[in-house]
Amino acid sequence: MPTTLENWNPGKAENRHPEMTYEEKEKLFLEVKEDARYEDFLYGCYECGICVSSCPSARFYDYSPRVIAQAMAREDVERIYDIISEDIWNCAQCFSCVRCPRGNNPGGLVTLLREVAVRNGLQETRDVLQGYSRVIYKVMLKGNQVSPDMLQPDFFPDWGPWVAQFSANMPVWRKAIPVDTLRGVTDAAWKTDRKTLLELYTIWFETGNMDIIKEIDEGLYDLLAEVMQEELEDQ
Ligand code: SF4
Ligand code: SF4
Repeated sequence: MPTTLENWNPGKAENRHPEMTYEEKEKLFLEVKEDARYEDFLYGCYECGICVSSCPSARFYDYSPRVIAQAMAREDVERIYDIISEDIWNCAQCFSCVRCPRGNNPGGLVTLLREVAVRNGLQETRDVLQGYSRVIYKVMLKGNQVSPDMLQPDFFPDWGPWVAQFSANMPVWRKAIPVDTLRGVTDAAWKTDRKTLLELYTIWFETGNMDIIKEIDEGLYDLLAEVMQEELEDQ
C-alpha cells in the first residue's frame, strides 16, 4: 500500500518476523484487545517517559514500557509482535509504572500480552520459559521457589568449586538448622504443610494453570500432574 498522509505512521515497525503472517500477528493483538482489562490499562500515551523513569527493567535491559503503551495505542501490529515475542519477558511485573499521568498500566498490558503468548504457545515463549521449568516445578509442587538440592555444580559453574562441597554436604548442614520447617529439608526451601499443598494443587487445576503448563511444556505437565493427581486422590 503506498504511503499517504492518511496511512503514514512514523516509526512503524518493520516486519522482523516474516515467518508469521500479518493476519496471525493481528489475531494475537485482537486477543489482547478483547480482554476485559485492556480498556482499563490503556488510555493513550503522552510520551512523557514517567513510566520509563520508574521502571527497574528499563535500567538494565533494552526495554521500555513507553514503547509498549505507544505500540498498543497505535495498534502497530508488527511492533506488538516484536514485543510479545521478546520484550514482555524483561518486565519484572512490579507495577511501578502505574504512576502514569494518563492512567495507563503498562505492566498490566505486559500481563495481558504474556497470557496471550502462553495461551497461543508461541515458540519464543516456550524458549524463554524453558529456562524456568525447574523453578515452575518447585513452585507448583512444593509451594516455594528454590530449594537446596537445586544447588548443583552443573547448574552453577560460575559459583566456583565450592558449589560441589555445598551440594555434597547439604543434607548434613540442613539437619543442623534449629527450625522445624527447615530441618533436614533439602527438596524444598521449607516444608509446606499437606493441607496447604493440596489447596495449591486444586488451585493450579481449577484456575487453568495446569492447562497453560500443558500448552508450553508437556513434559513438565506430565511430571506435575502425576504427583498432584495422586495426592489429591489420596486426601
Ligand atoms: S511492571 Fe514492568 S514495565 Fe512496569 S515498571 Fe515494573 S518492570 Fe517496568
Ligand atoms: S507514563 Fe504513561 S503517558 Fe507517559 S510515556 Fe508512560 S505510558 Fe505514556
